[in-house]
Amino acid sequence: MPIPSPHHSSRRPGSSQKWLGLGWLLIVQWLCLAEAVAADTLRLQLRWLHQFQFAGYYMALEKGYYQQAGLEIQILEGGPGTPKPIDSMLAGDADFAIANSGVVIARMAGKPVVALAAIMQSSPIVWIVRADSDIYTPLDLAGKRVMLMPPPESAELRITLALEGIDPNRLDVRQTSFNPQDLVDGKVDAFDGYISNEPFWLKQQRVAYRLINPREYGVNFYNDVLTTREALLQQRPEQVEAFIQASLVGWQYALDNIEESVQLIHRRYAPNKSLEHLRFEAEELKKLIMPELVQLGHMNPGRWQTIARNYVQLGMAEGPVNLDGFIYRHQARTDHRLLYRVLAGAALALLLVGTVALRFAHLSQRLRLEIGRRRQAEQELLGSNLQLERLANTDRLTGQWTRLKFEEVANNEINRAGRYDLPLSLIFLDIDRFKLINDQHGHEVGDAVLSGVAHRLKAQLRDSDSLCRWGGEEFIILMPHTDLDHACAIAEKLRALLAATPVAEGIDVSASFGVAQWQAGQSLRELVHRADQMLYRAKQLGRNRVECFTPGKHLPQA
Ligand code: GH3
Ligand code: MG
Ligand code: MG
Repeated sequence: MPIPSPHHSSRRPGSSQKWLGLGWLLIVQWLCLAEAVAADTLRLQLRWLHQFQFAGYYMALEKGYYQQAGLEIQILEGGPGTPKPIDSMLAGDADFAIANSGVVIARMAGKPVVALAAIMQSSPIVWIVRADSDIYTPLDLAGKRVMLMPPPESAELRITLALEGIDPNRLDVRQTSFNPQDLVDGKVDAFDGYISNEPFWLKQQRVAYRLINPREYGVNFYNDVLTTREALLQQRPEQVEAFIQASLVGWQYALDNIEESVQLIHRRYAPNKSLEHLRFEAEELKKLIMPELVQLGHMNPGRWQTIARNYVQLGMAEGPVNLDGFIYRHQARTDHRLLYRVLAGAALALLLVGTVALRFAHLSQRLRLEIGRRRQAEQELLGSNLQLERLANTDRLTGQWTRLKFEEVANNEINRAGRYDLPLSLIFLDIDRFKLINDQHGHEVGDAVLSGVAHRLKAQLRDSDSLCRWGGEEFIILMPHTDLDHACAIAEKLRALLAATPVAEGIDVSASFGVAQWQAGQSLRELVHRADQMLYRAKQLGRNRVECFTPGKHLPQA
C-alpha cells in the first residue's frame, strides 16, 4: 500500500519543478555575479564641504542607483584641513576622488591617477572685486592685494595672468582666507572664489561686486573631475564603470530635480547652508555643467592636452605632454555584461518573488534606456563638441573671437601667406580714453560701447578678415591678401567712421590704430608687437589717428 507522503519531494518531478530547479541554478549564478560586483564599500572623497557641488553623488546614493548597480558607496566630506583628495586616494584612504584639472599635473609627475568624467565643463573659479573698485580686467590687478591659492589650485587665475602678459610679481599676492568678509572690509582688493558661492553671500550683504572670469580670457579648464587609481581600474573595471554610470545618472537626476536635491542636501548633508544658497549654487553650477550642450561627464582629449600644455607653460608641470592612459575610455562590452547580469537577476526575481521582480524589471528597463541614450548621446557628441568650442572661442561681450582662437587662425594665415607669398596685414586698435567713459557713465555703458564698437568694425570687414577682442578695449583685425597701404587705408576708414557718429546716445568714441604688414619669417608675436608699437605711437601723437609700420623707417629690419 503506498504511503501518502506530505513531502513534495516524493512526487515525480513535474515541469514546474524543472523550472524551480533552473530557478535555483540561476539564483546561485546571480549571487556569485552579484558578489563579484558588490565586493565591499568603495569610498568617494569630495574636495570640499558638503554642498550642491556634489549633488549627483548624493542623489545616486539616495535614489539607490549605486545599490542597483551592486555598489556600496561611502561619501567622504572634504574641506579646509583635510588632505588633498587625490593624495587621500593615492594613499588608499579613498577609491575615487573629485579633483580639479590639476590632476593632470599629478599624472604627468607619474602618479597613477585616471580621469573618469569631468562634471564641470568650465571652471567656477573667478576673482571677485568690489564694484566700486577700479578693477575691470586682469591688467588692473597690478599693484593690488590679490588672493591666490598655491598652485595648482588657482591655476585658471594664474594662466589668465600669463595670457594677459602680467608678471605675478606685479601683484601683491595674499594667501586665500576663504572669508569674503575680507573683501568687504577692504583687507584685500581681489578675492579668489567660486562663482557659485561667494557672490551669493555678497548679494545677501548687499555688497555690489564684479567678477573677473578666466573664461572670458580664453581659459577654459575642466573642474570637478571624477578620478580613480589606475590599480583599481585594472582590478575592478566593471565596478569602476558601474560607479561612473550610476554617478552620472545621479547627476542627471539632480539637475532635472534641483529643488528636491536642494531640499535633500540641506536636510541630510549641509544643514548650515541655507536652501536659498544651495539653490543659487545649483543654478550657477548648472551653467558650468552645461547638461543641455554636453553629455554629462564628457572629456575631450584635445582639451586635456591644452590644459596640460598650459600647466607646462606655467612651470607647474614638466613637458612633453603625454596623457596616455590618463583619460578613461568607456568599454561598451562591459556595459552589456552588466546589462545581461541585471536582466538575468530580474528574470529570476520575477520567478521567485513578485514584488522583487518588479523592482529588477524596472532596473533593467532603465539600464536599457540608459544604454540607448548613451548611444544616441555619442552621435550627438560631435555636434555638441562643436558648439562647446564655439562657446570657448567667442568673447561673451562682443561676440568676436577670443585671443586664443585668434592665435590659431592667425598662425594658419601666416603659414598660408608664407607658402603662397601673399601679403598679410594686421591692425591693432585701442579705444581712446575709455576709462573716462566707464568713470562718467558707468561700467554697463562701457560694456555697451565695447560691443557697439565691435559691431561697427565687423560690419566693415570682409568675410576673410578676422576680428578679435584682444583685451579690455583693444581689438585686432587680421587681413589676408592685404598689403600695408591697403590696410592703412582701411584703418583710416574705420577711424573716421568711429569718430564720426556717437556709438551710443551722447557718447563719442575714437580709437587709435597701429598697422603692420607681415614680413617673411616673422612670428605672430612679432607682428602683433610691431602693430602695438605703432598703436603706442598713435597714442603718443595725440590719439584718434593711424600709424603704419614702414620697414626701414621706424625700425631696422629684424
Ligand atoms: P588710452 O586712450 O590711453 O587707451 O586710455 P584708456 O582710458 O582707454 O586706457 P586705459 O588702459 O587706462 O583704460 C582702459 C579701461 O578699460 C580700464 C579698464 O578697466 C576698462 N575696461 C577693460 N575691459 C572692460 C570691459 O569689459 N568693460 C568695461 N566697461 N570696461 C573695461
Ligand atoms: Mg584705451
Ligand atoms: Mg588699452
